[in-house]
Amino acid sequence: MYTVFAGGVGASRFLQGLVQVVPQEDVTIVSNTGDDVEMFGLHVSPDTDIVLYALAGAVNPETGWGLTGDTFAVVDQLQRFGYERWFNLGDRDLAMAIHRTRLLREGRPMHEIVAGLARSWGLGCTVLPMTNGRIETRIVGPDGELPFQDYMVRLRTEVDVREVVFAGATGALPAPGVLDAVSGASAVILAPSNPLVSIGPILAVPGVREALAGSRAKRAAISPIIAGQVVKGPAANMMRTLGHEVSALGVARLYAGLIDLMVIDEQDRALAPAVEALGLRCLVTDTMMTSPERKTQLARDVLAGLDAF
Ligand code: GDP
Repeated sequence: MYTVFAGGVGASRFLQGLVQVVPQEDVTIVSNTGDDVEMFGLHVSPDTDIVLYALAGAVNPETGWGLTGDTFAVVDQLQRFGYERWFNLGDRDLAMAIHRTRLLREGRPMHEIVAGLARSWGLGCTVLPMTNGRIETRIVGPDGELPFQDYMVRLRTEVDVREVVFAGATGALPAPGVLDAVSGASAVILAPSNPLVSIGPILAVPGVREALAGSRAKRAAISPIIAGQVVKGPAANMMRTLGHEVSALGVARLYAGLIDLMVIDEQDRALAPAVEALGLRCLVTDTMMTSPERKTQLARDVLAGLDAF
């Protein structure tokens, strides 16, 4: 059984490859819900939906989020009533938000809702939200605290990040199944996602970090930083301003004590000895997932790397 901690785009690309190599039924995904947001009165779970859409083959390949061919007539029309237009929620994408919101209002727990959504999309893997409670990733900038989507989408990450906080984490519980997925898996893989705001919130759920540190599973992480740069998103800027080295080694330092194997890109081969000096095994391979074949090959390489010890 394979458990994958997942953010959005980077994680969904890796998962698309993984399910070509192992049966979906053997894969459990622990999804970041720290960047969930209420929009137009609806509960939106951006990272979870990216993963569901990607595994269903429905994700827009150009953006990495949203549904292929979706339109934006509803958010356009909402402007007439004074709503802001900065959050791109497509017309078909809205259906998911409407359904999720209705079920939440009926008092259904998030893990049941997400399981139902995964079934509706025909997926065989288990998709778990990190918690059924509400943990909100917030960005502390020069002018105070911002909800994550305000920072990411409305302000296009043009904020000097001073701190990342996970509001509500103290006292939250992992969703049912999360701790078992960490301790009972044969392998746990931290996807190539932003370590601070995609994997960070999952590790901030009380008990998860401890379960991972103490798990008998073989544990790997794939660096989202290649040659000192991100493939997309704010991870590099965020790591820099928070005082972390912007490199695969910087990512390895964040995960030391939680993983056995660090997977870094060919372009970062020179960092391998320093990664190993942290007490980690280091696998150097092509981690740029620009085609279906490269996604599948990366999944194969990671599993072979885990099998090798
Ligand atoms: P977000 O929530 O949509 O921003 O998604 P994630 O946190 O899952 O993904 C963002 C991270 O994925 C960024 O730091 C990217 O550098 C990384 N990423 C995206 N595509 C790739 C890829 O093909 N290879 C690797 N190694 N990292 C990637």
